[in-house]
Amino acid sequence: MDRQQEFVLRALEERQIRFVRLWFTDVLGTLKSVAVAPAELDGAFEEGIGFDGSAIEGFARASESDMIARPDPATFQILPEPDGSPADSARMFCDIQMPDGSPSWADPRYVLRRQLSKAAELGFTFYTHPEIEFFLLKNRPSDGSEPLPIDNGGYFDMTAHDTAHDFRRAAVSALEGLGISVEFSHHEVAPGQQEIDLRYADALSMADNIMTFRHVIKEVAIAHGAHATFMPKPFRLQPGSGMHTHLSLFEGDRNAFHDASDELYLSKTARSFIAGLLTHAREITAVTNQWVNSYKRLWGFGGPGQLVEAPTYVCWGHANRSALVRVPMYKPGKANSTRVELRSLDSACNPYLAFALLLAAGMKGIEAGYELPPGAEDDVWALSDTERRALGYDELPHNLADALRAMDSSELVAEALGEHVFDFFLRNKREEWTEYRAEVSPFELRRYLPTL
Ligand code: GLU
Ligand code: MG
Ligand code: MG
Repeated sequence: MDRQQEFVLRALEERQIRFVRLWFTDVLGTLKSVAVAPAELDGAFEEGIGFDGSAIEGFARASESDMIARPDPATFQILPEPDGSPADSARMFCDIQMPDGSPSWADPRYVLRRQLSKAAELGFTFYTHPEIEFFLLKNRPSDGSEPLPIDNGGYFDMTAHDTAHDFRRAAVSALEGLGISVEFSHHEVAPGQQEIDLRYADALSMADNIMTFRHVIKEVAIAHGAHATFMPKPFRLQPGSGMHTHLSLFEGDRNAFHDASDELYLSKTARSFIAGLLTHAREITAVTNQWVNSYKRLWGFGGPGQLVEAPTYVCWGHANRSALVRVPMYKPGKANSTRVELRSLDSACNPYLAFALLLAAGMKGIEAGYELPPGAEDDVWALSDTERRALGYDELPHNLADALRAMDSSELVAEALGEHVFDFFLRNKREEWTEYRAEVSPFELRRYLPTL
């Protein structure tokens, strides 16, 4: 037993914890949990906890279903009770193994670990920091009608002691209580829409944090009589919920993206990394934007006179919010904060798989020495198609089917996800598309029934 494991066992005893929740994530990004009694934990550290992998999305075929969850003691956290009563539960994230002890190829955490070790071999640590948008709703209708947002607020509105304000306070304290540092929280553009930005962390901790975040936000919302949704575009006439993610590579203590002698303070490494993101942008979109609904955010409507502010064209720009990759303005003296922001991801992606692909694309750019094309200086949404074509800006996939086609022919994605996850993902998502394609939508009925 190592020191971290001993620390966990001692904490369980001292804090009188009764349930230890072992968490892991399926291929589609759903959090799974099995609760064990503290007395079982010794064994769980030694041998793991067995479960039926065939019952988990993307994990195994029925013929080879035995799998093992091994708790990672570095992720141990006591779970605060939403009502402030003494905590009696704790959680740890698990790595998934096969019965012979080898890591499972189906485990999204392992997919990310593989990319992180590849980057580590070249001396890089990958840091990310997401800005997570979501909606707070009064209801969650299941008949296909639009939900009601919790308020009528807008961007940065300081709504005095209403539900959203109290909710954000409670959510931020709950997150901090779980060791997740929050940088900013504010009301976003649409009614009911909130944004919470997390302080940067290494990509594996951050993917764990995002899974925890979604769970905590949903629980705190319920405690405030509301529902939280990370659905990318719940409202036809409002912007959707993105998860802009800031990325950087460090070599030891040094930010490998920073170069004080460059006009934009970007190193050659950073430039090639961005070029990698752009070159492979279309191939990785099925994972960063994995639902039929994700493409309504990217290509949808933001309401009269309003942009959705989600990226649609493959280009980069300095402080340019219409570009897929934005290089934020450099703050003098803050070399460590030089970073790039990728704006396509939505709040309902699987963060492990998404981060693995961002890193794979960026590293490919570095290893193959991709050249960065000139940055976009204009508002790319305001250009005509001809102008954009002349500038060489490709379009992000228009829908899930388009994204799956781009992914299917990508060697980079196949290699980074591994054959098992790659095949399962394509199969599962093609089924989703086939089902959607057969739908007759309210749009068609409204448009055609009166006249045709
Ligand atoms: N909600 C916008 C999106 O879908 C982002 C708005 C912003 O924070 O710039 O990406
Ligand atoms: Mg935002
Ligand atoms: Mg942003």
